[in-house]
Amino acid sequence: MEEYQECNIMILLDGKKVALDVRNEISDQVSLLLKNGHKRPHLAAILVGNDGASQTYVNAKVKACKEVNFQSTLLRLDENITESDLLAEVERINDDSAIDGLIVQLPLPDHIDEKKVTQSISPSKDVDGFHPVNIGKMVLNLPSYVPATPAGIIEILRRYNINCSGKHCVVIGRSHIVGSPMSILMAKNSNPGNCTVTLVHSKTKRLHEITKMADILIVAIGKKNFVNEDMIKDGVCIIDVGINRVKSDKTKSGWKLIGDVDFDAVKNKCSYITPVPGGVGPMTIAMLLNNTLNSAKKEIY
Ligand code: NDP
Repeated sequence: MEEYQECNIMILLDGKKVALDVRNEISDQVSLLLKNGHKRPHLAAILVGNDGASQTYVNAKVKACKEVNFQSTLLRLDENITESDLLAEVERINDDSAIDGLIVQLPLPDHIDEKKVTQSISPSKDVDGFHPVNIGKMVLNLPSYVPATPAGIIEILRRYNINCSGKHCVVIGRSHIVGSPMSILMAKNSNPGNCTVTLVHSKTKRLHEITKMADILIVAIGKKNFVNEDMIKDGVCIIDVGINRVKSDKTKSGWKLIGDVDFDAVKNKCSYITPVPGGVGPMTIAMLLNNTLNSAKKEIY
């Protein structure tokens, strides 16, 4: 792909296409593993309860496994399951050498301590990259599973040859799954990386002044159309992580997804931008598959 040029001809960062490339590469790797007598990578997912959005996300992950020829196991548990029974299931999968990766779909019902469950997953199977051991290793630049959404953003920047070195990257949002790990990855001595990073959040004062200094702006707050043309400088590269569902009379379902960035307002000012949908979203599952492949290949642990 083209070398990143700072100009005002906006280029869409096509996450859908990059995700497809990543998945095809994973499929090829699976074929190679099988050819060499290894087993298929195996991802297990635990879904507790009947939350509609969670079911959709888990089903998409199971479907993606099939598409790259992974084995998958979906364990559906009753929403009233006790915390100790859920922990026992996690332990059972931790001990099952046929399973390479385990994800527990969040959120969990209120009576279950999410932190406790996340931390009970063996770090060597934690392909979501949420375990403190994996977060710590990521910070220390040791091999680890990197949370899928930030890993997907890095992959987009890498494949579009976006020159990040020495640039000012502003990350809006400090969640454990997106904003915080993103800020760490962008500051690393690596490519993509080597940015000067500012992490801002809801308590940040004069946010507009800071975002206007960004060469690369990564937005993960969950507020529709939050970033507008007055908050950015010419030529900025924008990564819009937000997924917000809004009513629409133009779609069959009556709903559509929009990002945290007002796309139409900024499109003539930025050099690169991820669309919503079709930008960061498709990369998240692709990188989860990639983490699972790395687990099967024993590349991390
Ligand atoms: P969280 O709700 O966990 O975190 C939101 C962050 O945004 C918080 O740090 C919060 O600050 C900050 N924030 C909220 N309002 C403002 C504001 N007005 N100004 C500055 N900062 C603000 O969200 P997530 O990180 O989980 O998700 C963010 C968005 O990304 C959501 O739309 C989500 O759906 C989407 N998402 C998309 C994924 C994908 O695959 N594309 C994957 C994961 C998430 P504070 O800490 O001070 O409260």
